[in-house]
Amino acid sequence: LRNIADTDDLTELNNRRAFLEVAQQTMDTLRSSGRAFAILMIDIDDFKRINDTYGHGVGDTVIRGIALMLRSALRPSDVAGRFGGEEFVALIADVSENEAVAAAERIRDRAAQMRLMTSAGHIGVTVSIGVAFGGSRALRIDDMIEEADGALYIAKRSGRNRVALAAPVEARLRA
Ligand code: GH3
Ligand code: MG
Ligand code: MG
Repeated sequence: LRNIADTDDLTELNNRRAFLEVAQQTMDTLRSSGRAFAILMIDIDDFKRINDTYGHGVGDTVIRGIALMLRSALRPSDVAGRFGGEEFVALIADVSENEAVAAAERIRDRAAQMRLMTSAGHIGVTVSIGVAFGGSRALRIDDMIEEADGALYIAKRSGRNRVALAAPVEARLRA
């Protein structure tokens, strides 16, 4: 039930605006029945090198391949989006904190195992993932994304091809 204006052309995932809208609605619904969720920010590692080495068209094929893998790794009730160039976001529902990290680990591992078929041959990539666990806190999607983004930064800094879990905003403010 998706509008063209909500869909990213390259990947057919929700675009950023649509993701934010659907994710906020989904968070509100989950919270009202006490169901926990998490936000995953997923960014392709060293993607500039792929564009520079093989060209933008191959880069696009890699983005599509990762998007397809992401969609297939999630449940139908989860929400996925393309957040920016080679950056994706997902809301996963009904998970504990450990399960959210395990889900991110699975996505990270699947990306690392993939050999994407492109016009330049088969290419391997890795992704880094930041996880923000929502529990059933009354949070706004923007705050959750800020948390996940902070964790993503840590995953990048600790060497890429990594998953990092965010400290909740409240905890960081108190620290
Ligand atoms: P890092 O591991 O730190 O994420 O390194 P990176 O090179 O992936 O980081 P950065 O975010 O700086 O680079 C992303 C690049 O993605 C820059 C931009 O040229 C490219 N890009 C953005 N959108 C698209 C797109 O739609 N198609 C292609 N082929 N490239 C894109
Ligand atoms: Mg990147
Ligand atoms: Mg990026």
